[in-house]
Amino acid sequence: MSTSENKQNDIEQVKCLIIGSGPAGYTAAIYASRANLSPVIYQGLQPGGQLTTTTEVDNFPGYPEGVTGPVLMEDLKAQAERFGADSRWGMVSKVDFSQRPFKVEIDGEKQIEAQAVIIATGATAKYLGLESEKKFQGSGVSACATCDGFFYRGMNVAVVGGGDTAAEEATYLAGLCKKVYLIIRKDYMRASKAMIARVESTENIEVLYEHTTKEIIGSNVVEGAILDNKGKEVKIDIDGFFVAIGHTPQSELFKEYIDVDAEGYIKTDGVSSKTSVDGVFACGDVIDKTYKQAITAAGSGCKAALDAEKFLAE
Ligand code: NDP
Repeated sequence: MSTSENKQNDIEQVKCLIIGSGPAGYTAAIYASRANLSPVIYQGLQPGGQLTTTTEVDNFPGYPEGVTGPVLMEDLKAQAERFGADSRWGMVSKVDFSQRPFKVEIDGEKQIEAQAVIIATGATAKYLGLESEKKFQGSGVSACATCDGFFYRGMNVAVVGGGDTAAEEATYLAGLCKKVYLIIRKDYMRASKAMIARVESTENIEVLYEHTTKEIIGSNVVEGAILDNKGKEVKIDIDGFFVAIGHTPQSELFKEYIDVDAEGYIKTDGVSSKTSVDGVFACGDVIDKTYKQAITAAGSGCKAALDAEKFLAE
């Protein structure tokens, strides 16, 4: 057998390849496996996705007592595997969507040819990059007020950022917390006029313009933060520190082939999950800059599997 024939034999043929293992990827896998598409899921760097870094999840329907992020993701994985989904460790390192079957390389080694691809790679929250931010991750530092705000009822918290997300998170938290500091590095907010008006008319939000965060302090949990205001040190007493300085969609690998918007979010056609390449679908946070919830990601994963099923049937 020649070397090229050998290489050909090494290429695994897959009907439906799912990239990413958050709520979008696993929901796509549940639907795709039930439709006999024999989906193969590559889990990526963070199996289970962003939810595995949170503790309690109280807003995912079906868990009246709440559930932890890691358990929720294990449940979704087990549900997909129950119908035959093949969930694997590994990172997609390269793709070629120029023709079908689509070529996908795993960990720089393994080659796959897929009839349809569902991208569910998610987004990562941006952090300030402070050591103390890492230290208090899950014990006072969060990048999602909707997920974690509830734990700070009646307490004092801070939100960092001056965009729509920060403004929205600050007003959401203001409804739960005693006081919310909104820490903005510039002397103005980038958020929309309507959101700025909401922030300004909310009595328990104090906007700290031209402030940056030097350190988050506390022994085991967050107890305060040291800020810098034009060279002057300012200390605030807080129990929670919410970072809302944007997200980065994980679309870098695919940009050469599929259309993304100015911020890197994958563009989909209308309400469908179809990307600019026929047979490649996208779902979850990699297409969503607005809602970013586990349940909305799961819903869009369902749509991607249904779209892939229809495409493969045609
Ligand atoms: P944005 O990029 O709009 O804003 C990020 C904010 O974080 C900016 O104020 C920026 O400051 C600040 N920031 C960035 N890095 C740092 C840092 N290292 N230290 C301190 N501050 C920092 O992100 P958003 O997530 O707010 O919004 C993303 C997109 O989603 C936008 O288009 C937004 O309009 C949209 N969106 C819409 C919503 C809606 O319509 N309901 C809700 C939420 C988001 P600076 O201004 O100085 O750069």
